[in-house]
Amino acid sequence: MARHANHGANQALGSPWGDETAVVDALLDWARNRVVRSSDPKTTARPASELRNAAGKTVTPSGIGAREAMRVVEEVLLPATRAMDDPMNLAYIAAAPSRTSMAFDCVVSAANVFGGMWETGAGAIHAENEALAWLVELLGWPGTAGGTFVSGGTTGNLSALATARETARRRLGGRPEGGWRLACTSEAHSSIKSAVRLLDADVVEVPTVRGRLTGPALREVLRAERDAGRTVFAVVATAGTTNGGVIDELDGVADACREFGAWMHVDGAYGGAGLAAPSVRDRYRGIERADSFIVDPHKWLFSTYDCCALIYREPHHARAAHAQHAGYLDEIDREQWNPADLAVQLTRRARGLPFWFGLATHGTDRYTEAVETTLATARRVADHIRAADHLRLLQEPDLSVLLFERPGWTEEQYSAWSRRNSAEGVILCVPTKFEGRSVLRLAFVNPLTRADKVIPILDTLA
Ligand SMILES: *Cc1c(COP(=O)(O)O)cnc(C)c1O
Repeated sequence: MARHANHGANQALGSPWGDETAVVDALLDWARNRVVRSSDPKTTARPASELRNAAGKTVTPSGIGAREAMRVVEEVLLPATRAMDDPMNLAYIAAAPSRTSMAFDCVVSAANVFGGMWETGAGAIHAENEALAWLVELLGWPGTAGGTFVSGGTTGNLSALATARETARRRLGGRPEGGWRLACTSEAHSSIKSAVRLLDADVVEVPTVRGRLTGPALREVLRAERDAGRTVFAVVATAGTTNGGVIDELDGVADACREFGAWMHVDGAYGGAGLAAPSVRDRYRGIERADSFIVDPHKWLFSTYDCCALIYREPHHARAAHAQHAGYLDEIDREQWNPADLAVQLTRRARGLPFWFGLATHGTDRYTEAVETTLATARRVADHIRAADHLRLLQEPDLSVLLFERPGWTEEQYSAWSRRNSAEGVILCVPTKFEGRSVLRLAFVNPLTRADKVIPILDTLA
């Protein structure tokens, strides 16, 4: 350790930044305190004009100094960000990073590994691959499957679907008559539609059956497409839809994909975590036959932002789609596991490491328990809603998302109730749409969320 400290001090002599030792100490102390402190649920966004006034001009020719910059961070900037890891943040899909993963994220930043290529990041990539191997095992895929970590589900879905399209292009010898077509339901995440646009493809929408993509409905659409002389290159199934937490009928989808030669991608950004939970594992039957899969450890696998695990059954397809080639990259050993070859990215931080460190530290059994705890909390709250005279549960939850309504309330009443509770830091529960009307939604991803804290708040809807 002493050797490293001396090295740092010597470096400071010629550094354009001067002696940074005091700043480094102060920031690392601050990070330490932040990691162990609980979040403040009242933190919230403010208009840009207010922030400009409160923060003052921060980027100036001579700098405002670390002390003043940190004051601005602590007093102005961070209070204007939402506490995503608060146990009562049950809106959208929140986050629940373990302290271990938060602290290790600081270590990852300090190590500043270039994680794009094996030659620069081998050790880090090896550890990331260990974490991916656990997911591969949960999927029931062969040990030759693999992938990398990207920033989030959006990039993961795009990378997987670009691979699917390139694989089809090679098989067909070019762009098919009628263009690139991808099948999914209206419940697929917005990032799928974004990927489709970027890939110059079109969506073929499959009608849902009780919010689900099913084998028979998919088969009918694929047959009609084939009869019309068109090619559907990929099907996107969702394991845990964002709005309702619904798992598509993966077994039937896998059958249909096999019959029609379509790539099967499973978007498990939120719900993929349930693979670790024996109480719901059955619902994923069929996932063992998919071609690609994503899950965001920053959602329900207790890691920090931003982190998406992207996995291919046959990674060589991804290399064909994503590997970048240029004179300055010719020296790269393509036989090695280069994450840059597998997704839309070249430079990357080793963003899977906080996830890996949490797994390595606590063991996978603790992850199973933490996911099961969240599911049990969601079930307890669901039981309460089902039994309450003033509330109606709108669908039986597959996972940990609850959709419910307070019959008689209007959109405005839901919004006012939601905003008041948010402002007071009581709970973050925002309305969504279900079958065209406004309803309420709770999404559980945090094992620290307690049903006995949530239930009394729901009684204020009476
Ligand atoms: C959150 C989510 C995404 C997008 O993931 P990001 O990490 O926000 O890019 C994609 N699909 C599903 C099902 C999601 O829940």
